[in-house]
Amino acid sequence: MKIKKGDTVLIMSGKDRGKKGKAIRVFPEEKLILVEGINLRKKHQRPKKSGEKGQIILIPGPVSVSSMKLMCPQCGKATRVGYQISGKNKIRICKKCKQTIVQ
Ligand SMILES: [Zn+2]
Repeated sequence: MKIKKGDTVLIMSGKDRGKKGKAIRVFPEEKLILVEGINLRKKHQRPKKSGEKGQIILIPGPVSVSSMKLMCPQCGKATRVGYQISGKNKIRICKKCKQTIVQ
């Protein structure tokens, strides 16, 4: 997966197009990512104790990895991710500034 947990991504399509958020959970098999503040869904929370009111909370829904781009932490641009082999490791690089993306 080109996007990892903790990355900042830019949403390229859908109702949240143009918004940025932090990847909080990654599902590599489904190619889906939960992004903070993106694709919010309402969830009704039942009261836990009697006398408490139920409330509506907003939780992010998964977004397809193909509809987002990584925000490069080095140059700050939305970019595609490239790979470079360094010894046994595959490191991610920004296709715009060619810097290593640490994480
Ligand atoms: Zn960059």
